[in-house]
Amino acid sequence: MRILVVEDEPDAARFLARGLREHAFAVDTAADGNSAIEKAHISTYDAIVLDLMLPDLDGLAVCRALREARINVPVLMLTARGAVPDRIAGLNAGADDYLTKPFDFQELLARLRALLRRQPNLEDPILRVADLVIDTHHQRVTRAGRTISLTTREYGLLAYLAARHGAVTGRADIAEHVWDETYDPVSNLIEVYIQRLRRKIDDGFTTRLLHTRRGEGYQLAPEDESYGG
Ligand code: CA
Repeated sequence: MRILVVEDEPDAARFLARGLREHAFAVDTAADGNSAIEKAHISTYDAIVLDLMLPDLDGLAVCRALREARINVPVLMLTARGAVPDRIAGLNAGADDYLTKPFDFQELLARLRALLRRQPNLEDPILRVADLVIDTHHQRVTRAGRTISLTTREYGLLAYLAARHGAVTGRADIAEHVWDETYDPVSNLIEVYIQRLRRKIDDGFTTRLLHTRRGEGYQLAPEDESYGG
């Protein structure tokens, strides 16, 4: 899942980006409202964490601009002011939820996950593909009851493919949602990560779950349910 963090205070932006990356999110940052709007037009984010107080356009104006452009990404607004009129203004501008600063990082994570789950297919925090179980709350993966230890990026890739419920997922789509804007489209990073992931989840099992569909992308599904074409 890829998140845009819009925050002008560098320490706060770094804190948020680092925390989210540790929880396997791909994170881009924007330090002002105009660059946030620009990035949201260029990339498809799964959610935006948007500070209310920004140097140029404030969070309300950013939110309104996104909604007017029909960019319906979930927005979690951060407000330093706890005042009720600000929260109402945020929700009226099209934010999906808000959090008052200072906040606990775990609470931000919980709110963000709740927003992401509102997307179709993601209501359940436990994703299952045959005997592979992905607990998206605790970032834990097991297969046939055995714990599989993954790096955060491997986990992010696996969780993204699992959330696609057996759909074949192209490289561009993976790059967009699992990597951030530093991803180099001519690199073979995705293949490298797919191979590592395949070794960790499929080696030693007779049913293979991670498939390469040549020319189309990758698919996480039990072999017998796979693909007629
Ligand atoms: Ca700010």
